[in-house]
Amino acid sequence: MSGYFKDLFGGTKSLAVGLGITFRYMCKPVVTLQYPHESLKMTPRYRGHIELVGDEETGLPKCVVCGMCQKTCPSNCITLAGEKTEGAKTKSLTMYTLDFTKCSLCGQCVESCKFGAIDFSKDYNLAGPRKEAFIFDLLKRLEEKS
Ligand code: SF4
Ligand code: SF4
Repeated sequence: MSGYFKDLFGGTKSLAVGLGITFRYMCKPVVTLQYPHESLKMTPRYRGHIELVGDEETGLPKCVVCGMCQKTCPSNCITLAGEKTEGAKTKSLTMYTLDFTKCSLCGQCVESCKFGAIDFSKDYNLAGPRKEAFIFDLLKRLEEKS
């Protein structure tokens, strides 16, 4: 009989301790997010895949098609093209593709761009069933953003 009351006391005590912890954490600020409905805001120095930067006024790419990022990329991830229209001082970008499957996020392309035309994105939760899903048309992405 004493064993019965001992177990009962032990169980009640354990339940009270557990409930105490639960109530204590219920009153604390929430630190988890309801992923994927909510996403974390990444830190300023986070490196996602590169993306084109648009002009603040026009939204058009700042890229002048100098080709430095393409030349400097050690993994040949970047393919770009441009054309010069009549009267324009610089070329206009017509294609900018990033093969993110080969990118090591070394940052050499961003450092080599003297026009501030590319930067790291804050995308961190990419997923796809095929590797082709990670070949990005960065010009199209910029157009969709602006
Ligand atoms: S280095 Fe900059 S300006 Fe030159 S092609 Fe690359 S993104 Fe464009
Ligand atoms: S971060 Fe490095 S590997 Fe990736 S595209 Fe730029 S230069 Fe190439």
